[in-house]
Amino acid sequence: MKKIQQVLSSGKVDIYLDASFNLLTKLVDKKNAVIVTDENIFSKHRAKFKNWNVITLKPGEQYKIQLTADAIIEQLIEFQADRSTTLIGVGGGVITDLTGYVASIYMRGIRFGFVPTTLLAMVDASIGGKNGVDVGAYKNLVGSIRQPSFLLYDYSFLKTLPEMEWSNGFAEIIKHACIFDNRLFDLLKNYSLDKIKKDKKLLASIVAKNVSLKLAVVKKDEFEKGDRKLLNFGHTLGHALETQYDLTHGQAVALGMVFAAWLSEKIIGLKKSPEIIQVLGQYKLPTFASFDADRVFNVLVMDKKRVSNTMHFILLNRIGKGVVHPIKLNQLQKHVSTYTQLNK
Ligand code: ADP
Ligand code: ZN
Repeated sequence: MKKIQQVLSSGKVDIYLDASFNLLTKLVDKKNAVIVTDENIFSKHRAKFKNWNVITLKPGEQYKIQLTADAIIEQLIEFQADRSTTLIGVGGGVITDLTGYVASIYMRGIRFGFVPTTLLAMVDASIGGKNGVDVGAYKNLVGSIRQPSFLLYDYSFLKTLPEMEWSNGFAEIIKHACIFDNRLFDLLKNYSLDKIKKDKKLLASIVAKNVSLKLAVVKKDEFEKGDRKLLNFGHTLGHALETQYDLTHGQAVALGMVFAAWLSEKIIGLKKSPEIIQVLGQYKLPTFASFDADRVFNVLVMDKKRVSNTMHFILLNRIGKGVVHPIKLNQLQKHVSTYTQLNK
């Protein structure tokens, strides 16, 4: 086990890498803690939850809504949870986002921690303190920034992770490589999803690398005034596609990254977008889709990265170097339209 501590203005986070779920009993008082998880994780790892207070939710992004937050609050009242209770989110991004959100509003805020169980939650969603729920077509429209007290990484959860969820996690790992770390990009290029899944040591080191990349950017820019915006690479178009079509987050972000790479070639002279397409393929992510430009653009304009009629779009100067590039909405609309013509 390796412990890292990160001090942020919105809280101190203890991170336990390569740890065991049992460590939880040392971090919280079992009787005064409530676990939030979903049915899939609960049924596949039943033994781990023995003698814990558990709230089990239906799985899926469609439940990351206020109604579910209200249902969790009702159950917390039934458990007689008070201001000394710790809430523990054991799950993927949906569970960690909901748990962090409820914990930050229940009795004006109670202690919480996460045990991320998907690769995506391990390298991305559980780090940084952003939490919240979706509202209609708008992802993460309501929420707050508040840090978990602890993050516990138990890689044994990954044994039951469906193939698709592995790809979803790698979409964010490839994103980190594109915007921050060309060495990580080269490593990913030399491997593939199937190879990394078989190599536990390499996987653990990739997770640790991505945790530290994300922590560093969050530490530098907790409230997303600067560098943290780079983490939205692929997400502006990605989120719009995700809400309008039947795509997972990782698939949508992969398509968003291909578009952003194409735009980077067009506007700031990126040379290597074919390599990005190749790497995405090695991790079983899509790189090509035809979609309705107007329909997607109408959702895209609601992105939180828009400031009046300008979108702060994330482009790549080169692989490993993301930049924030303001683009006027009418220009962006033309680019999206041209791109969909090319993809027909
Ligand atoms: P994320 O935002 O991290 O992609 P979700 O919270 O939507 O993820 O979880 C994705 C899916 O994977 C859900 O159906 C969830 O129940 C399931 N899941 C999460 N962790 C595991 C695991 N360790 N083993 C099996 N299924 C899991
Ligand atoms: Zn994402």
